Amino acid sequence: MMSTKNEHHMVPLGVLLKRELANEKTEKPDIIYGQASQSKKGEDFTFLKMECQRMLRDGVTTFSVFALFDGHNGSAAAIYSKENLLNNILGAIPSNLSRDEWIAALPRALVSGFVKTDKDFQEKAQTSGTTVTFAIIDGWVITVASVGDSRCILESAEGVVYYLSADHRLECNEEERERITASGGEVGRLNMGCGAEIGPLRCWPGGLCLSRSIGDMDVGEFIVPVPYVKQVKLSTAGGRLVISSDGVWDALSSEMALNCCRGMPADAAAAQIVKEALQEKGLRDDTTCIVIDIVPPVTPPLPPPKKQGKGVFKNMFRKKSSDSSSHVDIEYSEPDVVEEMFEEGSAMLAERLDTEYPLCNMFRLFMCAVCQLEMKPREGISVNTGSSNMGRLRPWDGPFLCSSCQAKKEAMEGKRPLGDGLSRNSSGSD
Ligand SMILES: [Zn+2]
Repeated sequence: MMSTKNEHHMVPLGVLLKRELANEKTEKPDIIYGQASQSKKGEDFTFLKMECQRMLRDGVTTFSVFALFDGHNGSAAAIYSKENLLNNILGAIPSNLSRDEWIAALPRALVSGFVKTDKDFQEKAQTSGTTVTFAIIDGWVITVASVGDSRCILESAEGVVYYLSADHRLECNEEERERITASGGEVGRLNMGCGAEIGPLRCWPGGLCLSRSIGDMDVGEFIVPVPYVKQVKLSTAGGRLVISSDGVWDALSSEMALNCCRGMPADAAAAQIVKEALQEKGLRDDTTCIVIDIVPPVTPPLPPPKKQGKGVFKNMFRKKSSDSSSHVDIEYSEPDVVEEMFEEGSAMLAERLDTEYPLCNMFRLFMCAVCQLEMKPREGISVNTGSSNMGRLRPWDGPFLCSSCQAKKEAMEGKRPLGDGLSRNSSGSD
């Protein structure tokens, strides 16, 4: 017979400590949001979902999703993404994870979900494309995935501003220009014929100003849907998240947007930012703003820390680990610091679906890591096939892709055209 004392010994100390620390019912923040929009072309769409639930091994977690889709050349891609992206992301996460594993699995699931959504939409053979800025908030942890140029910024309670999205405009992203040129695309301005070049840098064929998007089947395959992903943990003092389309950011700096609505509740703040943008530049484009306040549920557990200078922009996050791509212990953080947990922007799937990721068992052996298709043994193709990593990896090392997703991967890397009969307007590319 086991005594009560012995039963206690069977629970690892770490688990007990986590239970003590987590005490989730009182620790999770309140989330208050508002949105505002002025439409010019009707191609901006938002997806706002509070109180989503996910069954985990150690209980149920509740999270919220805030997403912005800024469509171009029509709204079909934006609407399709709004309707399917969340399901595709959640479908890439295995069941029976612990809470820590669920948080750690999000960045990679976002990559799979974005690529699957893009691939499925392109199979419908519809034109149009969309930027996506997709934020998942679970407790104090914010995970943002983005393609395109709709920006997401965070102002912590201490007044420090952080960028949680990348800018995939060719004009201001040299790394992406190099990637596209190396994949066989051309980057240049619109040529007026008489030697005069006008407008922003564009990618040819297609003439898109962005280097990443969902949709856009009539431009080069090197316009990829692989998102930049950033995951941070707020201090328990909270913060304000602002997600806006380029209609706002072409008119306002991040500082201007945050300052013009300081002290206002979220819905009034979103309206004020849109109003301010229109006053600066007029209604030139769809102009949409989502403001999300993440606030302590009751009184803060600790006195507010000393001010670090309002409006100070920081690109550097405090890191607790020298290994930049690995997750750190998310249960612990100092009260006055926004902690960076994950950041990765590579367009290469082999790097984004990496097996060295802490969760070795995330990928089920006979399922495609992108589209979740079940495969027969030996049918899957290692995501590392043909990459420079191959030296230290064996062909049977996962994760694996189905042949269709492998073709998509090679096309994105400029290795070969997609050979599935999709008509592609590649005139002038030879
Ligand atoms: Zn697949």
